Amino acid sequence: MPVGPDYAAAPVHTALPDSLYTPVRPAHFPEHRLRYFNAEAARTVGLDALSESEVLAHFGQFTPLPDNLSEPLALAYHGHQFQVYNPDLGDGRGFLYAQLRESHTGRLLDLGTKGSGRTPWSRGGDGRLTLKGGVRELLASTLLEARGVDTSRTFCVVETGETLMRNDEPSPARSCVLTRLSHSHIRIGTFQRLAFLDDRPALAALVDHVVEHLLPEAQGAHLPDRAVALVEAACTRVARVGAQWLAAGFVHGVLNSDNINITGESFDYGPWRFLPTLDPGFTAAYFDGGGLYAFGRQPDALLWNLTRLAECLLPLATRDRLEPALEAFEPALHRHFVERVLARLGVSSRGDDDEALAVALWRFLRESRLPFEQVFHDWHGGPAALDRAADGPLGHDYRSAQFQPIRTLLERFEPTSAAVQAQHALAREAPPTLLIDEVETLWTAIADRDDWTGLQQALDAIARYRHVVTGHDPDPHLLA
Ligand code: AMP
Ligand code: MG
Repeated sequence: MPVGPDYAAAPVHTALPDSLYTPVRPAHFPEHRLRYFNAEAARTVGLDALSESEVLAHFGQFTPLPDNLSEPLALAYHGHQFQVYNPDLGDGRGFLYAQLRESHTGRLLDLGTKGSGRTPWSRGGDGRLTLKGGVRELLASTLLEARGVDTSRTFCVVETGETLMRNDEPSPARSCVLTRLSHSHIRIGTFQRLAFLDDRPALAALVDHVVEHLLPEAQGAHLPDRAVALVEAACTRVARVGAQWLAAGFVHGVLNSDNINITGESFDYGPWRFLPTLDPGFTAAYFDGGGLYAFGRQPDALLWNLTRLAECLLPLATRDRLEPALEAFEPALHRHFVERVLARLGVSSRGDDDEALAVALWRFLRESRLPFEQVFHDWHGGPAALDRAADGPLGHDYRSAQFQPIRTLLERFEPTSAAVQAQHALAREAPPTLLIDEVETLWTAIADRDDWTGLQQALDAIARYRHVVTGHDPDPHLLA
């Protein structure tokens, strides 16, 4: 029995206009070696009972799951890449493998791949993912989840035994296929493709599909109402994820419109980085010389993309109605930013003081350039963390005149009950950070010695930390 009672197949993508997908075949790989399996994510969709050989059959060879898509679908989309329109995008090295329901919420989730072979949208590419690319996406998604970001999860990574040539990695490089579990793969670029093709009926069908399956809050009696409500819902959700990235100290790196999920869930991790210190100009991608997607420009980049989404819907609703829908973005960004900073500090809301605390702390982090994550770690629990912060590596800095207003503010807040309980564990743990040098060190051990213990330890440390700050039960992320 390969699937459990919580498995609920929901292959709904084929109900969309067929200009949005093409059936494809997975590549045949010389080897299938399971490197990572996310048992916790698998449990949420009833796939935790799969044996290792079943996991490899489904996520290395892509034998269909029961009652699911009978063949993988390469998804079609367009997109603005660094603000330049590209009508030749689409899944060039991935596909939608299956769709299912999350057991405790009923949400529609996709199992989608990266590195599973060539498709009609591969252009000159080989359709493959380097093992380092797979390990990097695994690391980003795991730490983001622990820092409270709505993110796709890495479901599994299978090393596939090929050698790849890349300009930006030592080559030949090892290959893998990564499968992610994600709340949709419909992107802003999906809408852009249909607007570009001037296919109004297909656009209308996409709006209704998204409202039905992904954005239930976007209700409306008539199609124009739903189109406007969809823009508003997308703005609110994308703003939330932008706020979560800021509070998590995360730079996505490539905020092209094909990488913005309509559900707002964060996904597709290439040249990402976490901040060492708060620097709005900190840029992740080496090919982003102008800093278009720098840390502090991420909200602007998201709103720019959402504006492109609203433009796509002009055939369905008037400009007079779509433009105001974009105004949902700013207040949502602001509200969620304050909320997330407080959550990262483990303190309860005090209404009007919340904003003052978030803003003052942010300014302090920017001006002091103290290690971003250490400060959140030290002050998790607010007043409950006073002694721990004073005894920690930055105790001296917290006695500075610049910090005193923040300390005064912090002392007015109540720690959450989870944060009170977390104090002992926080005193023992160092916060997991995944700065670029740490990522490179983890990777070098794998590349040079096939030594996966550092990666396993990093994932375990993140799981433990997540348990401490969220009360979430750790569940070992298994490295096979
Ligand atoms: P990404 O930067 O991963 O979001 O990819 C941007 C576009 O390039 C998408 O259409 C990808 O499918 C495509 N792409 C990236 N790498 C490859 C590759 N090795 N082979 C084929 N297509 C690729
Ligand atoms: Mg992408």
